[in-house]
Amino acid sequence: MPTCDECKSFFPLEEDPLKGDCVTREDDGRVQYWMSRPTTAFQEAQECPRFIAKTDKKKEVKDLAGQPEPIVDKKVITWK
Ligand code: SF4
Repeated sequence: MPTCDECKSFFPLEEDPLKGDCVTREDDGRVQYWMSRPTTAFQEAQECPRFIAKTDKKKEVKDLAGQPEPIVDKKVITWK
C-alpha cells in the first residue's frame, strides 16, 4: 500500500522526516499556483487522486541519455 513518503509531492521536514508537506501545483483556470498542506510520511496514499510515485533516479538518467540536460535554476520559478 503506497504512502505519502513514496509520492513525488511529499517534502519531508529536515528536523523530522516523518512529517512534511504535500506540495502540489494547482490550476484554477486563470492562474497556476503551488498549494502546501501538512502531511506525514506514513499517511496512506492509496485513495489520493494526486499520488505520483517518485521515479527511480537511475532510470531518469538512463532516459535522458543522449539528450541535452535541462537548465534548471532552483531559485527562479517561471510561469508561462
Ligand atoms: S497527500 Fe497525496 S499528493 Fe500529497 S503527498 Fe500524499 S499521496 Fe502525494
